[in-house]
Amino acid sequence: MIMSYPDPDEDLLPGFVPEEYYSPYRDTTIDEPVCTGCGQRPADIPVYAQLAADEGITPDEYVRRKEGTLNPRNGHFLCDEDYIAAGQPVGEHGTRWVAP
Ligand SMILES: [Zn+2]
Repeated sequence: MIMSYPDPDEDLLPGFVPEEYYSPYRDTTIDEPVCTGCGQRPADIPVYAQLAADEGITPDEYVRRKEGTLNPRNGHFLCDEDYIAAGQPVGEHGTRWVAP
């Protein structure tokens, strides 16, 4: 008889998703994101104000949900203009870059 050994992955709970899988900025409690390039808050940056209005959310909320450069630890991000001015940095090994 062939012994079948348990699949080592079976220990994982069904539907279990490692915490780091979640987008780190989606549930952040940062109150006041700020662009470290121009020092402006999202509401002061027309493109964010417009995109947020289109989605029916506040500019801060828009940045918390969608801005890829937002650092969840300190609320720093780069607006599109400053990100381009910074040379469109990418993280190590092609990971997402966040503002320091
Ligand atoms: Zn900026």
